[in-house]
Amino acid sequence: MSGFENLGLSEKALAAVKRMGYDTPTPVQEQAIPLVLKGRDIIAAAQTGTGKTAAFCLPAMDKLGHAQKGEGPLMLVVTPTRELAQQIGEVADQMAVSTHHRITTVVGGLSYKPQIERLSRGTDVLIATPGRLIDLMDQAAVKLGNVKVLVLDEADRMLDMGFLPSVKKIVADTPKSRQTLLFSATIDKSIQDITGKMLRDPATVEIARKGDVASTIDHYIIRVQQSVKPELLKAVLQEKGFFRVIVFARTRSRADTACRRLRRAGYAVEAIHSDRSQNQRKRALDKFANGDVNIITATDVLARGIDVSDVDYVVNFDVPEQPEDYIHRIGRTGRAGSQGFAVTFVTPETESQLRDIEKLIKQKIPEMKLRDFDMAAAEAEAAEKSITAQAKRDPEVNRAKRELANKARKKAELAAERKNSREQEKRNKKNRQGGGQAQAQGKGQGQQKGQGKGKNARGKSNQPGYNQGNRGQQSQNRRKGQPSGDFRPGRARRAEVQRSRSRKSR
Ligand code: AMP
Repeated sequence: MSGFENLGLSEKALAAVKRMGYDTPTPVQEQAIPLVLKGRDIIAAAQTGTGKTAAFCLPAMDKLGHAQKGEGPLMLVVTPTRELAQQIGEVADQMAVSTHHRITTVVGGLSYKPQIERLSRGTDVLIATPGRLIDLMDQAAVKLGNVKVLVLDEADRMLDMGFLPSVKKIVADTPKSRQTLLFSATIDKSIQDITGKMLRDPATVEIARKGDVASTIDHYIIRVQQSVKPELLKAVLQEKGFFRVIVFARTRSRADTACRRLRRAGYAVEAIHSDRSQNQRKRALDKFANGDVNIITATDVLARGIDVSDVDYVVNFDVPEQPEDYIHRIGRTGRAGSQGFAVTFVTPETESQLRDIEKLIKQKIPEMKLRDFDMAAAEAEAAEKSITAQAKRDPEVNRAKRELANKARKKAELAAERKNSREQEKRNKKNRQGGGQAQAQGKGQGQQKGQGKGKNARGKSNQPGYNQGNRGQQSQNRRKGQPSGDFRPGRARRAEVQRSRSRKSR
């Protein structure tokens, strides 16, 4: 059946292959496994997603001894990202079920203590990111003097990420007699110049030359204005489906924004980038793998660290700045022989980056047309939105708005003031008229009934507002919160005089 048994692997390793569910070796496995078993150094230019992890784990662990208690590692794998380290750890764990090797993974972003404790007990295989490994070496928590096999994984990426000094230091700490396996998605002369010295008569395994794109990936571009990208992304998801999609953005904040927008539109999305903690990233990737999350928005740092099979397609929301990253990004789909596709949104500003990519992969990327997306209408809508948004931000427009609002407020205040004084005047007039009537009435009553001690009879009724007949109106006014207009001069004074008289008489 498989073809794996013709590569020289032991029964134990073949059992691991079966456990991992692999039927047929991939090209890099086919070429690398026999060479590694023979003890050769190799330099493998394998394109992403080709099964290179098993290509070194299976043969290297198959012939690896076991370290003494408290010693090791015998095999050291150095890889640029935490995600890659974890994926390698998973393949190594599968193999270790057969070989009983102790596997230890040390990566940054996690606490040192458990890693140091684990190393102190001894390990056969150590998988590490360069920064953390150097830290642990500096703390004398790990010694590399027993290393028999050294794997430099994603070597070009480690150099891009500025890990060359760390890698050199790590290599220098391992014995010269070691076997060295160097894997890189792309290999050019500069990499060979730097890393060539670390290898002894290496056999070259060339599955992909620099710039090769996996044949299992169809890739396209869509030309679009920057402001239309969010709508276009939704249209792509609607038309092409959204079970398992990775969206790459240029920056962390753009990945976050795309994630928020898609979430608002009702999609199950997570963002992963270097600002998110190790646990957050792992949880997001687990959810993505088990289907709880359908879309991952990510930056380039993680382009190589996402190993989820059956990714339907990749969207390059932004064109990658490094042409090589294009290959890594689209390599997230079409993995291990399955078919995938990728679509890249190209704005007029990123046309030159597209040309660099086309030059690298030596092919013109065809344009994709969406059935149900009206680009012209979307552009018009985006332009309208941007004019409104711009106007909102424009300081001139904002000042004019404030002035208009002030004017309107002043006008309203003035109108209210005028209304109040008109009403006041009316009430006063009414009171005056009421007073005149009451006076006339009071006189009439006093004369008729002889009530000379009535207030009216004391001749005060001609004071403005001083009348009984107006009380109803006054209390009504008080209820309305309006001034009553009844001053009743002298009333307080009379009460005071009365009080002092009664005090004297006591
Ligand atoms: P890698 O290039 O090591 O990151 O592997 C990419 C993906 O291919 C992983 O999901 C592996 O599980 C899968 N894979 C590796 N070798 C094989 C194989 N021989 N057959 C099927 N899938 C494989």
